[in-house]
Amino acid sequence: MVHNFNSGPSVLPQQVLQQASEAIINFNNTGLSILEIGHRTDWFINVIEEARNSVKELMQLTDEYEVLFLHGGATTQFMQVPMNLLDANETAAYCDNGIWGNKAIKEAELFGNVNIVASSKNKNHTYINHNFSIPTNSKYLHITTNNTVEGTQWHQFPQTNIPIVADMSSDIFSKQINFNQFSLIYAGAQKNMGAAGVNLVVIKKNLLGKIKRAIPSIMNYQKHIDANSLLNTPPVFAIYVAMLTLRWIKKEGGLSEMEKRAEAKSNLLYSTIDSLPLFKCFVENESRSKMNAVFFIENENLQTEFLNECKINNMIGVKGYRTVGGIRVSMYNALAIESVQAFCNLAIDFNNRKG
Ligand SMILES: *Cc1c(COP(=O)(O)O)cnc(C)c1O
Repeated sequence: MVHNFNSGPSVLPQQVLQQASEAIINFNNTGLSILEIGHRTDWFINVIEEARNSVKELMQLTDEYEVLFLHGGATTQFMQVPMNLLDANETAAYCDNGIWGNKAIKEAELFGNVNIVASSKNKNHTYINHNFSIPTNSKYLHITTNNTVEGTQWHQFPQTNIPIVADMSSDIFSKQINFNQFSLIYAGAQKNMGAAGVNLVVIKKNLLGKIKRAIPSIMNYQKHIDANSLLNTPPVFAIYVAMLTLRWIKKEGGLSEMEKRAEAKSNLLYSTIDSLPLFKCFVENESRSKMNAVFFIENENLQTEFLNECKINNMIGVKGYRTVGGIRVSMYNALAIESVQAFCNLAIDFNNRKG
């Protein structure tokens, strides 16, 4: 058995892979592949409608929201958000809690003014800085709900009247939250909701139409809303896999069940790591991510040895991000707790042999 701890693209439910591969040969007994059907056929309209309705249902969104499936990764949203929401003379508030938020800041600076209202840089991004105020003239506040690289996660969100824009790429659909507190939510699909190639974008409609900039059609949220995500050929297969993954989440028990599983897996992982002298997790307890655990063996040679043992034991994707180093265990929705247990057993055994 392969234990897939990849940070993204990452593990998907076996059932989803089975159904997606069947659809590549014969989609819904049409005699055609999902890769061969037109995006304006009833066949595909049904797929995207189901995906859209599943998102609305899982997030319990009010009618004020639109659900879009757009091309590109979350990185596209780093620019598409300010392009649509921020005029050149306006200011947006951003939180700097790690590498992805930083990339979003750089892109926003191309379109307007960025005010970094909170940063966790002083402690190497090992916590979420909740202690900040947002100037009332801010067009929106941007946060990254889970910092995939640094292993931190927001467990409570800012209370503010300023519209909140959230990059949820690496913890979307992993827990029950009030999604209606956000004005715009975006997520690349390849971590918790499918295959690479599609972005989920959820927008509160009253956010749009408030800037002067001319926006190219393909970047324009309003045009995508008017066209029901069919402005041009959408990433048909990626949307299909997202639809199957959302169907799987609902069938397994929805977000409360995903949350229970994430709790169980992350509790097991962190309590094990904290009990072993060889392993050090520097992320503050209250900010630890239930999706990506980041920790270290301080002796580099031992760490390399441990990572090699992971490889030998079919544990994939546990090497930390290149700029952070260390060890990263990603525990997305589809990862079985048995895989976390296997990792913990190896860590305990390694600690006993080398500690
Ligand atoms: C992976 C990730 C991204 C980048 O996604 P791409 O699809 O590669 O553009 C952005 N934000 C977060 C939080 C991520 O985890």
